[in-house]
Amino acid sequence: MKKYLLPKNGNFYKANLHCHTNISDGKLSPEEIKNLYKENGYSIVAYTDHEVYITHNDLTDSDFLALNGMEIAFCEMYANKTYAFAEQCHLLAIALDKSIEVQPVFAEERHVRYNKHLFSLVNTGGNVRPLDKWYAPSCINFTIKTCNQKGFFTVYNHPSWSLENYSQYINYEGMHAMEMFNGGATALGYEDYNPRVYDDLLRSGKKLYAIGADDNHNKYAGNPKSPYSDAFKAFTMIKADNLDYESVSKALINGNFYASESPEIQELYYEDGKVYIKCSSAQKIYVSYGGRKAQVEYMTDKPLTSAEFEISKEHGYFRLTVVGLDGKRATTNAYYPSELDK
Ligand SMILES: [Zn+2]
Ligand SMILES: [Zn+2]
Repeated sequence: MKKYLLPKNGNFYKANLHCHTNISDGKLSPEEIKNLYKENGYSIVAYTDHEVYITHNDLTDSDFLALNGMEIAFCEMYANKTYAFAEQCHLLAIALDKSIEVQPVFAEERHVRYNKHLFSLVNTGGNVRPLDKWYAPSCINFTIKTCNQKGFFTVYNHPSWSLENYSQYINYEGMHAMEMFNGGATALGYEDYNPRVYDDLLRSGKKLYAIGADDNHNKYAGNPKSPYSDAFKAFTMIKADNLDYESVSKALINGNFYASESPEIQELYYEDGKVYIKCSSAQKIYVSYGGRKAQVEYMTDKPLTSAEFEISKEHGYFRLTVVGLDGKRATTNAYYPSELDK
């Protein structure tokens, strides 16, 4: 029986799930971001300004959905390291219900580096415990757990830019997803494409999804089409029944999406021990099985637009990567044969 790994029904909506505006250190206003991304084929933007959770439901219309969120940073600023070498951990918290008004964790004002006056707009819920934002797994895990309990989708961001290595990220628990692509960081020279980190986390038994996002600030290049711009570099393609907050939240929680820098995945399903993919023109499609095993298909005389791979039960999980003709990639979430064969 066919099991659709991306749902058969519904529509694909292009999303940028990590974005900064002039509420924190971005250049454009929330409305300017909406217009820019709409004009460039996006249906969804998650507003994730630094340290402040402010809702943007007023920006939603019939063909644009604003998701409400924030980015939370843990910085090792007090160790014997300069800023350039200090590790950080950044998380996204994206509200799964548009009616959530209260900020999930309350960072003390001294941590809010940008537009401090806006902090007065944050709804702290009255008696929220101030977060001791020490760069330590205990505090980071407390934050992830708190955000999850309060109805947020949590994402582990840009490990390359953060200078985090295995000994740090392997301790983090309970994130819904991580950034496979942080397009903005990559555009600025940080190579934030993270298949190795994703496999490390999966192999350690953590179950999480992989997203792509811009993390755009729009301040390094005025023209968003410039290669120096941090806009339109990576995205998440979400398959949902409708473009509304509830349907898109459901798709996020269920992992009905893939991450991409450009290639499109049109179909992904599993049937009788094989996975099938249909995609835009590709030079290479491969499947990784979590261990020292993979299968790859290359284009010969004409570009690939589909592939199929055997999946045996010995594979703990599998995930696929599509490499487009321009060398850009799309990656799927990890899937578990033991669950698919049930
Ligand atoms: Zn960040
Ligand atoms: Zn960011």
